Amino acid sequence: MRVVVIGHGMVGSRFAEDLVAREPGARVTVIGREPGGPYNRVLLSSVVAGKTDPAALAMSAVDPARATVLAGVHAIEVDRAARTVTDSRGDVHGYDRLVFATGSAARIPDIHGVATDRGLIPGVSVLKDLADAEGILARLPKARRAVVLGAGVLGLEVATGLAARGLSVTLVHHSGRVMERQLGDAAAQIATGSLARLGVRVVTGTSVAAALDRRGVLSAVRLTDGTEVLTDLLVMCAGTIPEASLARRAGLPCDRGILVDASLASPADANVFAIGDCAQPPEGGTGLVAQGWDQATRLVDAWSGASVPVAREADEDLTNVVRVKASGLDVVTMGLSGKFDHGERELRAVRLADPSIGRFVEVVVSHGLLVGATVVGDKECASQLSAMYTRMIPVPADPAHLIIRPLAGAAPAAAVAVEDMDDDATVCQCNTVSKGRITQAIAGGCASVEDVAKATRASTGCGDCRGNVARLIEAATPDKVPALAG
Ligand SMILES: Cc1cc2nc3c(=O)[nH]c(=O)nc-3n(C[C@H](O)[C@H](O)[C@H](O)COP(=O)(O)OP(=O)(O)OC[C@H]3O[C@@H](n4cnc5c(N)ncnc54)[C@H](O)[C@@H]3O)c2cc1C
Repeated sequence: MRVVVIGHGMVGSRFAEDLVAREPGARVTVIGREPGGPYNRVLLSSVVAGKTDPAALAMSAVDPARATVLAGVHAIEVDRAARTVTDSRGDVHGYDRLVFATGSAARIPDIHGVATDRGLIPGVSVLKDLADAEGILARLPKARRAVVLGAGVLGLEVATGLAARGLSVTLVHHSGRVMERQLGDAAAQIATGSLARLGVRVVTGTSVAAALDRRGVLSAVRLTDGTEVLTDLLVMCAGTIPEASLARRAGLPCDRGILVDASLASPADANVFAIGDCAQPPEGGTGLVAQGWDQATRLVDAWSGASVPVAREADEDLTNVVRVKASGLDVVTMGLSGKFDHGERELRAVRLADPSIGRFVEVVVSHGLLVGATVVGDKECASQLSAMYTRMIPVPADPAHLIIRPLAGAAPAAAVAVEDMDDDATVCQCNTVSKGRITQAIAGGCASVEDVAKATRASTGCGDCRGNVARLIEAATPDKVPALAG
């Protein structure tokens, strides 16, 4: 079986690695546009913030002895009749099965002056790949000011990261409040106050109309309300678009992304598949790595004849937990958050707002379960609430206890410590690794978070579960405190 994978990002690399391990007879060619090996893209904002070294992003990759990996080469044409892919060097690769794993592209808003024929002007950037992050880092020594466009999750991460680097940051957002899809007015106001304390000035209800340059280098931006803001950097965090252009040119049905059925195959061609951010499966694309890694696993399972679990539709609750990986600002939302009808009869919402210390907690309860929460400025409370939410633990009769108990530092109403979880509870959401698999790995000799990551892949995505993995190691080996490096 000749397999060509287009895209050597987080999902394409995982797919190729697992496929050659399971199907040694497959002749796999991976075509990747980026120059190096695969890396953890999720942590790029933490590279910009100076919290993660770029070298620490490297991910495990397909064994080069068992696959042909073309780095720095992109696929330019797919001929489905001839079953070939032509790459940018003019080489033609025949396939029996073709997998698109081309990810997504940063949306570049229509702003006068941001780009010339040669691309974005110096000082203007997006944050989509390592080259973008390195480009931003290279400008930091001479930069004093930055404008970040877009106050969604990534915009907040980049703005706080640059502020932590000592830059004076203006965060410009078209809507009337930051993270308007997740936060209501009160929570957004508190987050905005916290951003101000971190050195980020938030300007809402406007956008960037033009980039102004001095000798070809960005020097200021003009907002749609006419205000000019001096700046050395403009980072555009205006969303992403699935990278489906090559598939579209090959005549494959595409909507926002490459349309695939429940088996991840194109409805127009049973030999062509799409996984990761570029794919649009029947349940919809989330743009989160957990979905892509789940698809990679399911496709390898299907090709190697294993029973194929269905898409993680039932885990929708897990994917609508939104965490901002910002420096100095914790924002977590889950389920019902932001603007919803507090008057709905079955919903009971309780909130605590303390703008002076930047804390906001709201819990929404229905039929004895937590169905939504918004937490600004309280990491511990957020982690306890998200454990209750994802594990659907019954809530106390008075939902106020959900806020008061975690804040008081007491154990939450129901035990949610990782040690007390059932074995089938998911600890690593990105890789869908259960507590049972982690404790088995520990029993098998894994003594550090890195050992567990190698054995199970837990913690290799967003890294949010590293603390829980460490606690499980500690619980199993109480005399040893596990290293939590990185
Ligand atoms: C800054 C940032 C923060 C993020 N934070 C989170 C987070 O907290 N949690 C989360 O779950 N997700 C997060 N994501 C999203 C996550 O990174 C993606 O879901 C994940 O990378 C998808 O993997 P993929 O392989 O589908 O796409 P990608 O990792 O984007 O890889 C696609 C690869 O295909 C290559 N390619 C495209 N076209 C071609 C072609 N024609 N020929 C050859 N190669 C091609 C691209 O260059 C790229 O290397 C974040 C993303 C970014 C950028």
